[in-house]
Amino acid sequence: MPPSSDQLARAHARTPLLFEQGQPGRATPYVASTAAPESFLPAEALRNDLALPDLSELEAVRHFTRLSQKNFGIDLGFYPLGSCTMKHNPKVNDAAAALPGFRDLHPFAPDHLAQGALQVMWELERALASLFGMAAFSLNPSAGAQAELTALLIAKAYFKARGERQRTVVVVPDTAHGTNPASAAMVGYRVVSLKSKGNGRVDPQELRKAVGLDTAVCMMTNPNTLGLFEDEIAEIAKIVHDAGGLMYYDGANANALMGITRPGDMGFDLMHLNTHKTFTIPHGGGGAGHGPIGVAEHLVPYLPTPIVVRSGPDGPTSEAHAFALEFDRPHSVGPVRSFWSNFAHAVRALAYIYANGADGLRKVSQLAILNANYLRVKIAEFLTVPYNEVCRHEFVASAQDLKRETGVRALDLAKGLLDEGYMAPTIYFPLIVPECLMIEPTETATKETLDAFVETLRRLVEIAKRDPESLFQAPQHTPVGRIDETRAARQPDLRWIPQGSGERI
Ligand SMILES: *Cc1c(COP(=O)(O)O)cnc(C)c1O
Repeated sequence: MPPSSDQLARAHARTPLLFEQGQPGRATPYVASTAAPESFLPAEALRNDLALPDLSELEAVRHFTRLSQKNFGIDLGFYPLGSCTMKHNPKVNDAAAALPGFRDLHPFAPDHLAQGALQVMWELERALASLFGMAAFSLNPSAGAQAELTALLIAKAYFKARGERQRTVVVVPDTAHGTNPASAAMVGYRVVSLKSKGNGRVDPQELRKAVGLDTAVCMMTNPNTLGLFEDEIAEIAKIVHDAGGLMYYDGANANALMGITRPGDMGFDLMHLNTHKTFTIPHGGGGAGHGPIGVAEHLVPYLPTPIVVRSGPDGPTSEAHAFALEFDRPHSVGPVRSFWSNFAHAVRALAYIYANGADGLRKVSQLAILNANYLRVKIAEFLTVPYNEVCRHEFVASAQDLKRETGVRALDLAKGLLDEGYMAPTIYFPLIVPECLMIEPTETATKETLDAFVETLRRLVEIAKRDPESLFQAPQHTPVGRIDETRAARQPDLRWIPQGSGERI
């Protein structure tokens, strides 16, 4: 007798695929329905030659429940993944996004039937513009990387309108997130990488040498990916502006700034935000993102279409106002996403902003900074922190010295943390710190959580010195152990092949 799916699940180190489970005839519908495909699809459209799994409802439910229990997420444990801002996502935001008036609204509903939704978009745009010192925001792009692309398209349209087509270079510091140079290359710009100076920041002298008549945009992150504030930002902005270029702010990680300082005041002309990071929207695992872009006054005409406009008197919204989507914008780069924006995320972000208020958001940033510095000081007791000074929302430690001493790399520590029930810090960038561990606790971690994390990491470093081999084997207690990362990247095997058939589904 073939094993049951429960036996299979216990026996396998991995959960068997749905395809490997089931028996012919199991998938009898629970409700005998006249809506069965046979009753309304023409016979020639029906197929029975697909190797689909034949499972009962219970088997399918158990399969997906098992998989869900193998997941790790912010709702389960500490997730200090630097640059990703994995903070608690208050459930009330989801409740707001699930209100039937928002959830069930058709994206093509005429404006007069969608006033509430348009007001949400309008108010979120204004809130973001005020928080970050920009003239206007568009909620259109779906994620940070797409927002970068959109912003560079705006820069391109702007220079074209000014007859400055020779501006083809984008300057990017060597600490930048990988999406920055990638977005610039996609728009057809040439990327010039800027070497950071000794204190991990942009060197105005180097920048002066790099800019000129061909400079289109300088893309910067501030605080940068080392978690350090670029204190010469005013001079940097002046150098780029004097050369005729635009300053772009990568605001994917805006968690350190809210209510404290604004990119608009630092001299940035355009920027993006990841509301799925800073403004508590569940993300990770490739979930839907939301990347609003903000622009200064001179770039407003180029924003993607449509934008939300409001008629009626100035001032707070009232009954006298009507909201509308405006499409007729001749200088716009056009729509970059279907259906105006990832609308449910706009609701979540606005709910978060209103729940906190201006003072609350400042407190969020202050606590995020405090938590990061608490971890930095504690972790510096047993791991090298190359730029060990007051940081903002995150900091970068290095396992380089530990590796020299023991052979244990940042990767091994990261895998060891997985065994201990933590998500690992980011270890693949910033590229200028070898064996980096980029750690971002966020404001929602308690002191007890931070202390327990420090002690776990301290213990792993001790194990590295005593018994490095054991860390090379980690993780041992996760559903998937150490994989051959090169082979996984070069020869991904993502398809199930029915046994014996030699065929691919
Ligand atoms: C996450 C991130 C991005 C990219 O955002 P996505 O929404 O993942 O496309 C860009 N820059 C920085 C600094 C980031 O942390």
